[in-house]
Amino acid sequence: MRPPILDPLFAPVSTLPGIGPKIAKLVSGLVGTQPDRDATVADLLFHAPASLIDRRHRPGIAYSENGDIVTLDVTIGRHAAPPRHSKAPYKINAYDDTGAIDFVFFHPRRDWLEKTYPEGQRRIVSGKVEWFNDRPQMVHPDYSLEPGEAASMPQIEAVYPLTAGLSSKTLHKAMQAALDKLPRLPEWLNGPHLQKTGWPDFADALRTLHVPSERSDIEPTSPFVERLAYDELLASQLALALVRAHMRTLGGIARSPSGKLQAAVVGALPFQLTGSQSQAIQEINEDLAKPVRMLRLLQGDVGSGKTVVALATLAQVIETGAQGALMAPTEILARQHFASMQPLCEATGIRLALITGKDSQKERRIRQEQLEAGDIDLVVGTHALFQGSIAFKNLGMVVVDEQHRFGVHQRLALSGKNQGVDVLVMTATPIPRTLVLTCFGDMDVSRLTDKPAGRKPIKTVSVSLDRLDEIIARIGSAIQEGQKVYWVCPLVEESEKIDLAAVADRHRVLEHALNQTVSLVHGRMSSDEKDAAMADFKSGRTNVLVATTVIEVGVDVPDATIIVIEHAERFGLAQLHQLRGRVGRGDKPSSCVLLYKGPLGETAGARLNIMRETNDGFLIAEEDLKLRGGGEILGTRQSGTPGFRIANAEFHADLMETARDDARLILETDPDLDTARGEALRSLLYLFGRDAAIRLLRAG
Ligand code: ADP
Ligand code: MG
Repeated sequence: MRPPILDPLFAPVSTLPGIGPKIAKLVSGLVGTQPDRDATVADLLFHAPASLIDRRHRPGIAYSENGDIVTLDVTIGRHAAPPRHSKAPYKINAYDDTGAIDFVFFHPRRDWLEKTYPEGQRRIVSGKVEWFNDRPQMVHPDYSLEPGEAASMPQIEAVYPLTAGLSSKTLHKAMQAALDKLPRLPEWLNGPHLQKTGWPDFADALRTLHVPSERSDIEPTSPFVERLAYDELLASQLALALVRAHMRTLGGIARSPSGKLQAAVVGALPFQLTGSQSQAIQEINEDLAKPVRMLRLLQGDVGSGKTVVALATLAQVIETGAQGALMAPTEILARQHFASMQPLCEATGIRLALITGKDSQKERRIRQEQLEAGDIDLVVGTHALFQGSIAFKNLGMVVVDEQHRFGVHQRLALSGKNQGVDVLVMTATPIPRTLVLTCFGDMDVSRLTDKPAGRKPIKTVSVSLDRLDEIIARIGSAIQEGQKVYWVCPLVEESEKIDLAAVADRHRVLEHALNQTVSLVHGRMSSDEKDAAMADFKSGRTNVLVATTVIEVGVDVPDATIIVIEHAERFGLAQLHQLRGRVGRGDKPSSCVLLYKGPLGETAGARLNIMRETNDGFLIAEEDLKLRGGGEILGTRQSGTPGFRIANAEFHADLMETARDDARLILETDPDLDTARGEALRSLLYLFGRDAAIRLLRAG
């Protein structure tokens, strides 16, 4: 049960003034954490400002620089009103000791302008100055106040990341209302820790974050931000510690198979295991043999062969008569896992099944009955499917293929319900150590560090989009030689019709220029359409696949040797690396073409350089973490750490270690969270959306 004191914070944002159903949707897209539900007041409060406007900046008209937000003390001059029904803007001249400026208004409300900017009177006006042809102007000033009421203008104003259709004014108003709803919550941090750090309490920290009085207040190292970051990290570490503790109380099963089935699987492989594959299998075998539950992370770059490790170790569990399950993040991937495991399972007598959202009711029922009867040894499906009511006869091991998504908390909690189930989480690196700890807590880790033998490194070049024709010509000759090509366009968002048009456009251009059928896959297609397009490309009926980033998640076409990534400057390093990993999976040399649209920003340039220089996922991960702190597009700070809203692995790594120790200590002294502090900590878990872990407590 959620503590009632939190109720105001869990009201939907649509209960705030100025937020109707339409705006609520926009706000939810921006700050929400649940895809199918309106964002809550708490979600909104964790939407941190990216920068500040300092309205104390009063340089005078002539000394205001282009793009600056300034406050001017002016005398209002003449109004130049366009004829009625004209589309021309309404201009109001004004001046101070240093010079003159025009205030510019589109779709003017004349009587309001006459009242707000009365000719001949002094006004305090604040907004953004832009210079055109050596003349300064200010389009739609933010404030125009009589000198006597100038104090009502905030000196410092938070600037939030916004989304199309949502105005800063609307967001500010909602934020203010949200802050008014913020209750004083019982303290969940311990006294000595608070004293040592000098941190404010939670509510004060949030208030200052949104109503800062200095630029430094919203920086990652301010006590206000650190307090909130620590709260978020503590919630995460505590949730992970709870899951672990719970798993321990459930106990594990010591499995002692002969290893025959595993040997058969390995023997049926058309290749030799790499050293690190063998080692990972060994480590997992040892976990399985122990009477505690396994909770292990298998980290390995794309193409490092994690699936094989998963199947070999699942075989150990299956040999003892238990069942295994593999959860994939998407349906395409689930099918792919199924397809790659099928021949091995057939050869070794493992009864394998696939469950997808497309199964008919009848098929579904049959599978379900087979699972319950124990007639299926291993089932593959998407994460979503396993959240339904699937029942097993004797589930022994779950493999969660996370690729590089980080929604692992809930799923761990989920698998925590099943007595004795061993859990292996697979993730395509690269995740640096600090992030492993933040996202997965104290898990045991196996790493696949060496690539399967015979793999050639991928040659990477970056080329300006101006040279598109040249690249298409080269692709044409590569196809003549029998090569296969991925062509990646940036993501198609549900709402972004423009991107969709761009993919469709590129597809047309390529079909025309190459004079052949080209496959197309994007997020708006049905899964049947996607499957058909993928199958054409895989089988070689087509040689080129144009795709949005849907192919990022683990698609395996070993004979594809070229990947072109269009608008590479828009992708993050980790994503570029994931995408590049689509090629170089076979024994032929592969290449990656990063097509960028110049001029490149500093960070984007650095990213492309790193991509050219190295294929090492771990190195790229470290560089990525460094670059992301840069706040590259002015005014928009990228939130650096996936799954976290305030905490940032770059700045708060030390806080995380403290939070981990704190969480351990809490569970040692108050394992059921039922002291006064424990109660407060439950609130903390709810606030940061880690409450799934609470259900694992004995007392509920
Ligand atoms: P990951 O899931 O880590 O991205 P996969 O398990 O999908 O990688 O393996 C990628 C490809 O490499 C598959 O086609 C797989 O059959 C192959 N593969 C896996 N291990 C080896 C190995 N030791 N030697 C050669 N090929 C391998
Ligand atoms: Mg894989």
